[in-house]
Amino acid sequence: MTTVRCRFYNCAMSTPILATKLYRPPPRPEVVHRPRLLTRLHAGLQRKLTLISAPAGFGKTTLVSAWIAECPHPSAWLTLDDRDNDPPRFLSYLVAGELLIGAVVVLNRQVIAAAHTREKTEGRLLVHADFLALEAADRLRPFPGRRRDAALFVNLEPCLMCFGAAMSCCVGAVYYGVESPGDGAVALVRTWQKRDSDFPAYQIPFTQGGILRDDSIALFQRYVAQHRSGAMWEWAKTIASQGNTSA
Ligand SMILES: [Zn+2]
Repeated sequence: MTTVRCRFYNCAMSTPILATKLYRPPPRPEVVHRPRLLTRLHAGLQRKLTLISAPAGFGKTTLVSAWIAECPHPSAWLTLDDRDNDPPRFLSYLVAGELLIGAVVVLNRQVIAAAHTREKTEGRLLVHADFLALEAADRLRPFPGRRRDAALFVNLEPCLMCFGAAMSCCVGAVYYGVESPGDGAVALVRTWQKRDSDFPAYQIPFTQGGILRDDSIALFQRYVAQHRSGAMWEWAKTIASQGNTSA
C-alpha cells in the first residue's frame, strides 16, 4: 500500500492506494468468445460512457477484460467500492503511479479542459498534462470564446513541446508552479527575438511562474519518497530538490 497526496482541485488529503484495485484480470484463454457483445462495446466508443449491467456471475468482468485486450485504445482499470464515492479518493486512484502533474485550461474563469500526465498509463512520451489539456481545449467545437483569452495553468514549468502547443493553440497566458531545470522552456522562449509582424496570430503568451510553487514541489517530493529508481525518479529529484527537503 502506498499513499498519494492529492492537491489538484484544491483537495489536500492522504489517500491509501490499494494496488490490487488497479490490476485488470487477464483474459482467460478457455473463456467463451462473445463477438456480438464485443461488437456492441466497440460501438460504444463513439459515446462518452458505456454501462454494463448484469447479475453477479454473468461474466461482466471477463467480458470487459477480453474487450480491453483487443481494443486499440489506452485503458486503465480501477475496481470501485462504496468508499470510492469521494472525488479526492477517486482522483488519487486515477493518477496512481504517474508523476503528479496536472493542467487546466481556463477561459472566462471557467475550466474548459483538464488533464494529468499519462506517460506511465499509456507507455508513451508525448502525453504531458499541459499538452493533453491544450489538445482537449483545442477539440472544443465551437471554441467557447476567444482563444487569446484562455490561460493554461500547470503545476510544472512547460517543456518546449508544451510551450509550443500553447502558442499554436493561441492561449494568451501560461501560469505554472515550479521550475523544471531539466526541460523547462520558459527561459528559452523569453530570449526569442520573434517579430509579431511575421505571424501575428503566433504570439508568445504572458508567462508567470511560482503559482502554488511549494505545493507543487511537495508533490514531487512525495513522488520521490514513494519510488526508488528509474529515469522519471531521477528527473523528479531535480524538481523536488528545489524545495525544503525537510518538508
Ligand atoms: Zn511538456
